[in-house]
Amino acid sequence: MAMARKTEADFNQSPAFTDVNLFTSDTALREAVAREGASEAAENLGAFGRIAGSAAAAELGRQANENPPRLRAFDAQGRRIDRVDYHPAYHRLMGFSTAQGLHCSPWDYLTTGGPRPGAHVARCAGSYMAAQMEAGHCCPITMTHAAVASLLHEPALARTVLPKLLARSSDPRFAPWQKKQAITIGMGMTERQGGTDVRANTTSAVPVNGTGPGKGYAISGHKWFLSAPMSDAFLVLAQAKGGLSCFFMPRFSPDGSVNRLRIERLKDKLGNRSNGSAEVSFDRAIGHLLSEEGRGVATIIDMVTLTRLDCAVSSAGLMRQALARAIHHAQHRNVFQKRLIDQPLMLQVLADMALDVEAATALVFRLARAFDGHDDPDETAYRRLMTPVAKYWVCKIAPPLIFEAMECLGGNAYVEEGGFPLLYREAPVNAIWEGSGNVMCLDVLRAVERSPETLERVLAAIDAASGSEQRLKSAVDGVRIMLGEAVSDPARARSVVELLALTAAGALLQAHAPPAVRDAFLATRLYGAFRHSYGVGLGGGDIQGIAARAAPMLA
Ligand SMILES: Cc1cc2nc3c(=O)[nH]c(=O)nc-3n(C[C@H](O)[C@H](O)[C@H](O)COP(=O)(O)OP(=O)(O)OC[C@H]3O[C@@H](n4cnc5c(N)ncnc54)[C@H](O)[C@@H]3O)c2cc1C
Repeated sequence: MAMARKTEADFNQSPAFTDVNLFTSDTALREAVAREGASEAAENLGAFGRIAGSAAAAELGRQANENPPRLRAFDAQGRRIDRVDYHPAYHRLMGFSTAQGLHCSPWDYLTTGGPRPGAHVARCAGSYMAAQMEAGHCCPITMTHAAVASLLHEPALARTVLPKLLARSSDPRFAPWQKKQAITIGMGMTERQGGTDVRANTTSAVPVNGTGPGKGYAISGHKWFLSAPMSDAFLVLAQAKGGLSCFFMPRFSPDGSVNRLRIERLKDKLGNRSNGSAEVSFDRAIGHLLSEEGRGVATIIDMVTLTRLDCAVSSAGLMRQALARAIHHAQHRNVFQKRLIDQPLMLQVLADMALDVEAATALVFRLARAFDGHDDPDETAYRRLMTPVAKYWVCKIAPPLIFEAMECLGGNAYVEEGGFPLLYREAPVNAIWEGSGNVMCLDVLRAVERSPETLERVLAAIDAASGSEQRLKSAVDGVRIMLGEAVSDPARARSVVELLALTAAGALLQAHAPPAVRDAFLATRLYGAFRHSYGVGLGGGDIQGIAARAAPMLA
């Protein structure tokens, strides 16, 4: 008698989590986008969500990471060429994200009229999904978008660069930026002796033909990390006579020859492998001064602020992807004759993770709206204070959450084909670059010390969103007191920054999330017993309701 063939269902495996629309399947994301002013972008985001969540894009992500960029420092005759080759899959991913305008869309108004309402929120929604598609290529996308804020310090240069930068395409040719259809921009701040302490930079800049904004300087020295080394230009910090200054350094010199930027080595990195990160040296490379000499930090900080927003958005996206996969698996996998999602302990773990994902999502999109607020004093204050707060908290919670989500899948999560290892290796970097955790906390103290009004405006906004919820009101009081103490004792900075993040996120959930989510969040994150891991302390809460809301809505 012939043996009956076993079907997939007999093996109790969950279906592949592919071809999922990352926008329409994500309730918290859709609500946040609408709430924070970008509802008009919903259709466009749905179209991008389909691409970003497609099996084809996931395959490109796998290929781009399994075939990381390769340095070609010399040609066959030993001449330096300093090029980096990327796998075609990387270029396809760049094509998707640039077509969506993730490298530039909020700046469209610079050539076409006034700012578009919700432009940052809509772009951040795209970035949230692009990070889930493949995070490595998001590095040049983020840097290009952010660089515009610093380029605007030199309006004449910005005017010439913008038309190329605003193009909705990717042009990977190695050619002078003036001859290309589209360009990307990177940044070079970190040196071997220090990344945080950029004032210790030793790279020097000597004027070639006159000093001052827009003039050419010969730059010599090195950078220890310079990502996306095939960018068309970099914003670079170097010491001029007047102090640390910011320069626009193109890959080609004004005379059309390759600029004297030497790529010494590509880092062999833990994650983010599709994205090249180089060690470079400069041998009188030409850079054009942005703003005045000595204004380097003040100039590049505008770029850095925007990259910090993206770090938080990207980490929230990575967490969402990990959670969605965990819930999807639990919905299909049976253990002891019951689906995992129906096992009370698993359900509690999933619901607990969902609270952090929803809170992080609410916080980063509220922050994105602050960037759409331009000169509004309340939004300016929110941007200044909450950018380092969100960067700190959201990027900090991503690695443990993603690990916990992996565990929900059991052994399958550990296998490369499933894509989870890619997410896991990607998780830590957002906390490390663009200002590591402690640096973010110290930045919060600096903001409060310099402008107590900034703090009061933000606390007033949180208080207003809190309604009559007493737990949030006492948390606001606690933040005020603890910040005062931390200003004179920075060792306390992490505890108050975390409390501020939880209070701000809790207030957003209080105002906008279903009661099950907001109650469980406040009960466990602001109050309740000490926790070391997920799945603790939700007893009595509507864990079924919380998990159901977070479950990916598949068409
Ligand atoms: C994959 C990758 C790509 C990168 N790409 C780029 C790039 O394109 N361009 C670029 O310029 N840089 C890049 N970087 C560098 C990155 O921005 C730096 O590594 C980061 O800023 C930290 O600097 P550092 O490594 O010199 O560490 P340090 O500055 O030595 O800091 C080490 C630790 O000390 C903490 N710390 C610093 N000051 C204080 C203090 N006062 N009190 C308490 N703690 C403190 C920091 O929070 C950090 O945790 C990249 C890094 C990575 C990992």
